[in-house]
Amino acid sequence: MVTILGRAKINLTLDILGLRDDGYHEIATVMQSLALADTLTLTRQEEGITLTVDLPGLEADERNLAHRAAALVMRECGLRGGVHIAITKRIPVAAGLAGGSADAAAALRGMNELYALGLSDDRLCALGAQLGSDIPFALMGGTVLATGRGEVMQTLPDFPVTHVVLAKPPVAVSTPWAYRSYDAHPPKFHPDNASFLEALERGDRMRCAELVCNVLEPVTETAHPVIADYRARMREHGALCAMMSGSGPTVFGLFAEERAAAEAAEAFRLETDAAVHLTCTAGKYGE
Ligand code: ATP
Repeated sequence: MVTILGRAKINLTLDILGLRDDGYHEIATVMQSLALADTLTLTRQEEGITLTVDLPGLEADERNLAHRAAALVMRECGLRGGVHIAITKRIPVAAGLAGGSADAAAALRGMNELYALGLSDDRLCALGAQLGSDIPFALMGGTVLATGRGEVMQTLPDFPVTHVVLAKPPVAVSTPWAYRSYDAHPPKFHPDNASFLEALERGDRMRCAELVCNVLEPVTETAHPVIADYRARMREHGALCAMMSGSGPTVFGLFAEERAAAEAAEAFRLETDAAVHLTCTAGKYGE
């Protein structure tokens, strides 16, 4: 039996550079792993893949990304034998936190360990990229500049350990919709990734907090003004910065002090309809 964590991510910056011939957007995003994670427990079985998920409504069959990841490993490695995967879900679903990718990455690593396959990180990332653009990052974790469609990774120095409050409003955002809306009305600003990377190199968290920027934020916020409200609330409660993650709708706030983060999380629980998590930034896989 193997137990493995699949960590959530936030985007500290997210830029869209253009639309590619293959239909994907060319992006440049600084991604950051969080301690908030789903737990996957993999157990060998005679044959086939079975799955249980403790969240009613979330698909527990071949549509689940963890199932697809396990199936891909079995196919690629010509594995005889099967696996049962039990998922304990903590990452909010369809939230801009890449919970599905986190579970797929955990399933890839879990299969590698369970069957002692000896697949390298490069091989795992190549397999992950076949299933989703965020999966290579989910495999490696830490702080990364992801380019291409998100699968080309440059490892960065770890973002200084920081408390994070996540607030997901009760609205649904489709990622393809957000990108289409961006294409129709692209905002005029872009993140300054070069300055962000310089500040990160110096370990200058305050400067990084000034430079967080997501081009999808105004797109999603126009349809869901609650996001602007949550950002303002985060800052009122002392966040260094507050921004939407990915295509949303989750808003994250970064806090220097754990106590301020805990108070902000409590205020969100009392005053809003948000699903709230108090967590912190996490380093690279295995560290
Ligand atoms: P995106 O990667 O599109 O930005 P997200 O991070 O906003 O997605 P996820 O939690 O990854 O959102 O879920 C997106 C959809 O993927 C869900 O609505 C669900 O139907 C499907 N899905 C498949 N497997 C999983 C999984 N293991 N956990 C969560 N969602 C999954």
